[in-house]
Amino acid sequence: MSYRAVKGMNDILPDEVAQWHVLERAFREIAELHGYAEVRTPIVEGTELFVRSIGETTDVVEKEMYTFSRHDESLTLRPEGTAGAARAYVEHKQHAKEPVSRWYYLGPMFRAERPQRGRYRQFYQAGCEIFGDPGPACDAEMIDMLVGLFRKLGIADVSANLGCIGGPGTRERYRAALRDFLKPKLESLSEHARARVEANPLRILDSKDPRDRAACEGAPGVTDLLDDADRAHWDGLRRHLDRLGTPYVVDPRLVRGLDYYTRTLFELTSRSGELGAQNTLCGGGRYDHMIEELGGPNVPAIGFAMGLERILLALGQVAVEKRPRCFLAPLGESALGAALELARSLRDAGVAADLDARGGSLKSMLRRADALGARHCIVIGDAELARGVVQLKDLAQHQQEELALADVVARLSRREAGGGP
Ligand code: AMP
Repeated sequence: MSYRAVKGMNDILPDEVAQWHVLERAFREIAELHGYAEVRTPIVEGTELFVRSIGETTDVVEKEMYTFSRHDESLTLRPEGTAGAARAYVEHKQHAKEPVSRWYYLGPMFRAERPQRGRYRQFYQAGCEIFGDPGPACDAEMIDMLVGLFRKLGIADVSANLGCIGGPGTRERYRAALRDFLKPKLESLSEHARARVEANPLRILDSKDPRDRAACEGAPGVTDLLDDADRAHWDGLRRHLDRLGTPYVVDPRLVRGLDYYTRTLFELTSRSGELGAQNTLCGGGRYDHMIEELGGPNVPAIGFAMGLERILLALGQVAVEKRPRCFLAPLGESALGAALELARSLRDAGVAADLDARGGSLKSMLRRADALGARHCIVIGDAELARGVVQLKDLAQHQQEELALADVVARLSRREAGGGP
């Protein structure tokens, strides 16, 4: 019997993790510059939370949730981060503590989708939420932050697609208009879409099935149906983006996969790297009624989530800065004890140190030091140790010098701090 990771769930081995750190650092940095603070919520929530917030007739709730029961409770591995953040916001009465909360999160999400490149069953999302600001200035700020992040990361060909779904009234009018438009075309729709014409015709606009795509050609756009308040919000959002010079493309049929959105919707796509069909890097929108739906006060909100695997695919190879490290090569029994001590002192001084305690020839240890990309190798022999000295090899410069054991830490920590030889 050989064990394998669950289909659609990937190991990220140490070689790859360095790239993740670069991305995660860039995200945290830009989020914190914009006033977001990190929130960490459980990976498991009560199933009902997702049904209520994401919507019963969405793909995620209908067929993609990992749901199980324990102690008579139905639990679900979170398929996205907004529901948990909104639940935490309500549960901890965050609105009473501050008028506006800016939160960010980062972590694994779970959806039982058909795995393919850029689409997994466990995947990582980083996201931001703003609670308490009705926008549209903060909507523009959020989209501008994302465009800035992708630019900073060096992802080419990014397009920020913008839509507006309006409030509940507009959404209902839009549903009715879509139903009227699609009903005469019922025969040409996929079975899945046909079943949704009544309950959730908006979802059909999202369908990847070529039959549904063809049937949706010429469908009405929601922006024609906005009421005055929605229109003012929509106009304001574009005005702010124009003022910031943030490039965007209006997509009047953007609906997005989850039901909770109101007014602003956006998606950032890219044609760069190895993304292929799964080219949506990030999606978000306003969800002004969710906090109330979850039993909280009437607090407007907006958020987005981006898929970290997809961003890494778009980036291709990320340049990872390696921390210089030194390698200790003890040759003999008493040398090993001294090496253990020296390694600890180096680490205490902030110098990364590897130690080969397996014994072996100097040649094999030097080979190992090279393979690890060490900058220095400290060779400690029993005879030299008796004189209180070691050999310090600079592997980059191919130089070697004898150094008092007592001076090694000071020398290497000065070098790593950029303080010269
Ligand atoms: P959503 O929560 O569906 O709006 O998705 C937001 C972002 O998460 C998408 O734009 C993708 O980048 C990423 N994403 C969603 N589902 C998956 C998945 N199954 N595998 C990998 N990334 C995903």
